[in-house]
Amino acid sequence: MGIAGEAREAVEALRREVSALHAELTRYGLVVWTAGNVAARVPGHDLMVIKPSGVPYDELTPDAMVVCDLHGRVVEGERVPSSDAAAAAYVFRTLPDVGGVVHTHSTYATAWAARGEPVPCVLTMMADEFGGGIPVGPFALIGDDSIGRGVVDTLRDSRSPAVLMRQHGVFTVGPDARAAVKAAVMCEDVARTVHIARQLGEPTPLEPKHVDSLYDRYQNVYGQH
Ligand SMILES: [Zn+2]
Repeated sequence: MGIAGEAREAVEALRREVSALHAELTRYGLVVWTAGNVAARVPGHDLMVIKPSGVPYDELTPDAMVVCDLHGRVVEGERVPSSDAAAAAYVFRTLPDVGGVVHTHSTYATAWAARGEPVPCVLTMMADEFGGGIPVGPFALIGDDSIGRGVVDTLRDSRSPAVLMRQHGVFTVGPDARAAVKAAVMCEDVARTVHIARQLGEPTPLEPKHVDSLYDRYQNVYGQH
């Protein structure tokens, strides 16, 4: 089966982008060995581009990326896709506004996941980025749609683009792959800061009205326009 026309161009661009974005996972110390991946939806097509399974980050190239359908089946590529392809595919299939999915076992966020505790919203940057605390999703084993379903069901009830899957790790989403990577970076950063704050006492939650106003400003006004 071939990918032709406008989808071809989109796939080639996303192969380059997804390959390059994996360097951000190592740059920010979110992954060890080969455990962590980025996936991007091919806009307008029932396809996604994802990391190959078990390939070291230093060896990733655009050509090594795998193109799958939204059931995680390989459409193009010589390698086996990440074992998280089914979860990413489920998210893309279920949430049409999501263009990127990232998974990591980043240390501090995963420590919260290990205890099954949401990261409370005690920092303005959390209100900005996550619109509240970072929620915990269910324990789910790899192999069917359980992880994807747990991610989607948790994120649907939250403004957060990140979910801590219980006793597993972090899944983040975004309108594109770069935004999902940013959410993974910020998730680890606030998980670390709030953990350290906790060592010295109980941090104070932000008032909901302040969370709402910070979230609204950051999502709608902040940055270059
Ligand atoms: Zn994992």
